[in-house]
Amino acid sequence: MIFDLWETLIDWDPEAARRMNERIDELVGFGFRERWYAAPNRYTAPVREVLAGVGIAAEAMDDVCAARLDFVRHCLVPRAGAVGTLRRLRADGYGVGLITVCSEDVEAIWPESAFAGLFDAEVFSSRIGISKPDPRIYLACCEELGVEPREAVFVGDGANDELEGARRVGMQAILIHKHGQDPLWPEVRTWDGPRVTTIPEVLEVLERC
Ligand SMILES: [Mg+2]
Repeated sequence: MIFDLWETLIDWDPEAARRMNERIDELVGFGFRERWYAAPNRYTAPVREVLAGVGIAAEAMDDVCAARLDFVRHCLVPRAGAVGTLRRLRADGYGVGLITVCSEDVEAIWPESAFAGLFDAEVFSSRIGISKPDPRIYLACCEELGVEPREAVFVGDGANDELEGARRVGMQAILIHKHGQDPLWPEVRTWDGPRVTTIPEVLEVLERC
């Protein structure tokens, strides 16, 4: 069982993101957010390299990094039932994996988060330099888990074409979205596979897979 991170196991907090970007704007004296999102390597390169590339001066670097880490620390909190579900899966004999497209900040905070030690395989795009939906990122996780892709089930909110990407390597894929809301991404609103609105529900779907 392989999980996406953002908007799957944790929430993206837009208000906290706005505050972080304002804090960074004050530190650097320009609009940080636009430059960050224009950097094609933001999730596949060391964060200080990305930040230098978008024009963060050396003297502001430590403070900018600290602001980013504060934001990630704030967000890296499991959704309701997530920790219990991960533990249950392992107790039932499933390997539990993570595939996340993220900046290096997530990897830095991960060991102090409530997720530390709950996974058998953790694949961070920032560590391996590959993003979803590149087949290699799914295959890297399967290899670490010691399973074939056809034996694996991926759960995600559908960003980065991740659900179809999982299917293309032979995995089954489950869409997660918030109860009473449409999926976040237009391309998965007509998703024809299983859907859940909470992490514990994947246990029920798994029984039917
Ligand atoms: Mg996501």
